[in-house]
Amino acid sequence: MNERYSRQILFSGIGKEGQSRLLQSRALIVGCGALGSAQAESLARAGVGKLRIADRDFVEASNLQRQTMFTERDAAERIPKAVAAANHIREVNREIEVTAEIVDVNHSNIERLIRDCDVVLDGTDNFATRYLINDACVKHKINWIYGAAVGSYGVTMTILPLQTPCLRCVFEMAPPAASSPTCDTAGVIMPIISVVAAVQVAEALKMLTGQTASLHRSLMQFDVWRNEWRKINPGPPAPDCPTCGQLRFETLESVSEEFAAVLCGRDAVQISPSQTTSINFTELAKRLRAIGEVKFNDYLLRFRTGEFELTVFQDARSIIRGTNEVATARSLYAKYIGN
Ligand SMILES: [Zn+2]
Repeated sequence: MNERYSRQILFSGIGKEGQSRLLQSRALIVGCGALGSAQAESLARAGVGKLRIADRDFVEASNLQRQTMFTERDAAERIPKAVAAANHIREVNREIEVTAEIVDVNHSNIERLIRDCDVVLDGTDNFATRYLINDACVKHKINWIYGAAVGSYGVTMTILPLQTPCLRCVFEMAPPAASSPTCDTAGVIMPIISVVAAVQVAEALKMLTGQTASLHRSLMQFDVWRNEWRKINPGPPAPDCPTCGQLRFETLESVSEEFAAVLCGRDAVQISPSQTTSINFTELAKRLRAIGEVKFNDYLLRFRTGEFELTVFQDARSIIRGTNEVATARSLYAKYIGN
């Protein structure tokens, strides 16, 4: 054990034994935006031995206000967030292992991603992915830590499958899209990100060091602008919960068709083809250069035509910017990338 962790070892909650448990642990961070950045950096500095970071997006200038892992250069070069985060972590702590997964986390890969993990941290921005994490983690009995932030408000809860209520016990259904504020309509400020991520990371450290008696066991809500901090007791798991009561994991069942999703706050739609293929950027660039502006790096190809911009990843997944209409995005995808 080296000098690096000396202050953390002095802390009685962790100590030498806790530190060595951290070094042997594996954590998955799903979504590496604001919350995910803060979680990844803290866990890396704390010496969690293996980090897996999954994110579907690339860095943009509007991320820099709150997504602390990224720099102006990452935005200029459009580095995928998972890769940018992993690169920075290697500069912070090269003694740990970090893996970047440039993927849209969905039913096809969630069970692979959580495999071998001791804890999963929620850094996503949508309920669909959270229910997916919840299903996979309850099914495989892996602890996970829900977290969300919008405006100056944030919320977090730690889920120990079959011991404490799961996300579905507490929120039976996702709030209707139009009824709840999103980063799109309400914005978000960095301090609430810091608060939520800090509580999530503290919970992860308690779990990984075996200090489960110190977990907060509540639904915690914060508003750093209205100065409200609340701790709600969620009670026991709901016996009729479809997920942890009946063990039905609907979100894990395969959907074979192509999948489109409107991205929160981005004026963009993501198209995931039903079958992943490997795209040859050089050839695609040759084809597209005749009709628009093309740039590519090792991870993604960007093509601009008129008011639209298509970003294509190696697995053929694409983010189409300039529209919130799934139909428009689908037709652009079919026209330029293929079907
Ligand atoms: Zn439940």
